[in-house]
Amino acid sequence: MAQTVPQVVLVGRINAGKSTLFNKLAERGIALVSDIPGTTRDSNYARIDWRQASFTLVDTGGLDAATLGTVEIQVQERAYRAIKQATLIVLVVDGLGMVTSADREIAKFLRRTAAPTILVATKLDGPRKRRSVSPELYSLGLGEPHLVSGVSGAGTGDLLDAIVRQLPKGKRRAVPEPESSIRISIIGKTNVGKSSLFNALIGDERMIVAPEPHTTREPQDTTMTYHGTRITLVDTAGLRRTKHRRTALEAVSAKRTEDMISHSDICWLVTDISESLSAQDHAIAELARASQNGIIVVANKWDKVSDKTPTTIDEHEKRYRQYFTGMDWAPLMVVSALHHQRLRQLMDLTLKVHEARQRRLTDTQLQRILSDHAPRKAAPRKGTKSATELELHQTGITPPTFSLKARHTERIHTAYLNQVERALRTHYDFVGTPIIMNMHKKR
Ligand code: GDP
Repeated sequence: MAQTVPQVVLVGRINAGKSTLFNKLAERGIALVSDIPGTTRDSNYARIDWRQASFTLVDTGGLDAATLGTVEIQVQERAYRAIKQATLIVLVVDGLGMVTSADREIAKFLRRTAAPTILVATKLDGPRKRRSVSPELYSLGLGEPHLVSGVSGAGTGDLLDAIVRQLPKGKRRAVPEPESSIRISIIGKTNVGKSSLFNALIGDERMIVAPEPHTTREPQDTTMTYHGTRITLVDTAGLRRTKHRRTALEAVSAKRTEDMISHSDICWLVTDISESLSAQDHAIAELARASQNGIIVVANKWDKVSDKTPTTIDEHEKRYRQYFTGMDWAPLMVVSALHHQRLRQLMDLTLKVHEARQRRLTDTQLQRILSDHAPRKAAPRKGTKSATELELHQTGITPPTFSLKARHTERIHTAYLNQVERALRTHYDFVGTPIIMNMHKKR
């Protein structure tokens, strides 16, 4: 077999629970990419795609050191070859049983092979069983055991994470590194104060800020560093109303603005708080939403609002929320570009949104979301168990993307997906970022 992807080899005694674990890992890794052609799987090999890394999982069949003497001689030919070619070895032991001399023999053999080894104790379906696991496992010299259940799948996501972490970097499929620079598009209709905001932040007079509209013709980029993060601000030329007064120049600018958004991470949707919101504000918000960028709604010209009371901001926020529906997750930041008011807070919030977009939750955290915070209340049907048949995994970042796996996807309503999203947002900080919820069928 050509070794184009890393090989992760499962070894263990007969009856240790290896095949069940193999099937569970294969099911989890493959189901997420079931629409990718060429995904192969047979009883001994499974191609696993997990968190943008790919590897081949190899099941060696059982090693039986106890009856056959020393491991070096007796491991079946196939297992021996697989171990020699392995990038990483996973030694599976029965978590319910005692550590046997065969386990020790195998561990000893593996400690001498070139590939690193991960120790896994399986058959541990619940916390009670996990607590009763034999302390002798720690004496095998293979580090802390990963406690899993091949039947329920408990701990297998964390195990896949651990496997992927151990694969040599060069052998993983290119995984985009977390971005340490942020690209922000300043968007909004004409005259809301985009250029003023840009200018107030950049602190020079490069931009033409003038009372008459359309003074900014070209999108502009400027890079700065804020708290160690590189931030590129892109001032767009303003999205023009397409129906009225559409000149060739404006059409080009609008198209370019759309392109800019598609290359950005976060949009500052600038509006004029002293005026009522218009269909144009709404249309621009929709563009940002479609791009899956993070969004901060910037309510500029706060200085123009007269007769302020302690509740004025809340009243405006209510008005904004009613107008920009379906993006409650986008925070509202009230500023004055003219008076340089709350600009630092805007920058700080931007860093938080950037962090939220890169947030990754573990399977354990996600399973807790399902069991504790979004239990499925649907009336149990014949043959279904409620929440226990569901799995939640994170499959991506920027924006955070999740996959809800269920045996009967047709029985999961959108309302439930929304409930899961709400629970995610309540318990973890996903401020300013959309969350993508996908559904996959569990095999
Ligand atoms: P753009 O078309 O969105 O880039 O808007 P500009 O930055 O050119 O600003 C349009 C007008 O609004 C200019 O006359 C600015 O001086 C004014 N302006 C911008 N920000 C503020 C603000 O915070 N307060 C007040 N009072 N005026 C502002």
